[in-house]
Amino acid sequence: MKAWQLIDTQGIGSYQLNEVEEPEPGPDEIRVTISHSALNHLDLWVSQGLPAPKHLPHIGGADGAGTVDAVGDEVSGFDIGDEVIIDPSFSCGECTLCRNDEIVYCDSFQILGEHRPGTFTEKIVIPTINAIRKPTAMSWEVAGSFGLVTATALRMMERAGLKPEQTLLVVGVGGGVSAAAMELGLAMRAKVYVTSRSQDKIDWAVEQGAAGGFLSGAEFGAEMAALGGADVVIENVGPATIRQSMRAARKGGRIAICGATSGSKMELTIPSLFFRQLELIGSSMANHAQFARATTWVGTLGARAPVSKVFDFTDLPAALEYLDAGEQVGKVVLRHEG
Ligand SMILES: [Zn+2]
Repeated sequence: MKAWQLIDTQGIGSYQLNEVEEPEPGPDEIRVTISHSALNHLDLWVSQGLPAPKHLPHIGGADGAGTVDAVGDEVSGFDIGDEVIIDPSFSCGECTLCRNDEIVYCDSFQILGEHRPGTFTEKIVIPTINAIRKPTAMSWEVAGSFGLVTATALRMMERAGLKPEQTLLVVGVGGGVSAAAMELGLAMRAKVYVTSRSQDKIDWAVEQGAAGGFLSGAEFGAEMAALGGADVVIENVGPATIRQSMRAARKGGRIAICGATSGSKMELTIPSLFFRQLELIGSSMANHAQFARATTWVGTLGARAPVSKVFDFTDLPAALEYLDAGEQVGKVVLRHEG
């Protein structure tokens, strides 16, 4: 079978489409023929060695969905022909944290396509705990692409305690997790505002149902505050926007942070943090139950999961270039053969 392998960490050019051995499922594993997979910024970072894969060559890709084509001897609950979505969060499965589905805190927590071979392949073997049934009405494009960003956004919003009718501010709505947070917020009946450097993306967000948007070059914190402030702010930009994000939060507001695309270090005005009783919440990925709830939100509760563009499996480098250019709103998807 064919798989896209990173043979080096010099960027997109380090991906090669190679013939590799077909994996065989262990006793409690299933093998999935992938129908569609999707790209995340993670794939660009890993291709640059940030972080470097443990082993080269390495297969990237965190998102995917497909059809079960082999099952291990001890598997129950899945059969050949079942349509499944792949949950990209892996952990030891045995520690107390894992038994309580606090897998993101497990010392052995791993992300598919980063720490272990991913979905840019024709077939993949996964433990059954990483498979979730595809809702029948969900398209393959969506099934193969919504997972990582939607589950990550859902965990942020659950931890920040977003409630219906509350105000959600999504900073940098062009990003994958941010766009998913906006769609979840709309489905949860929150009042959603967005920021972007691009007026086009703000217009897109308003078309989707956002109440409004602010250009991130301007004083969006003051503009949001003038509208009463945000109960929850979703942040993944970091130093370039954090001061404005804190200003945008109402007193007692929660700022959930899952990334720092503008740099990894920032200065905080501590008095504004405590006088205004703000909470900064670091968050990354999601537990299995949160992945399942994200699937329900997209599958049956009306959260949209927009797809920006679908590329053929053989065009991964072009798809990565398209993602890197940052013009997309929604996911960049790969259509696999078979
Ligand atoms: Zn564990």
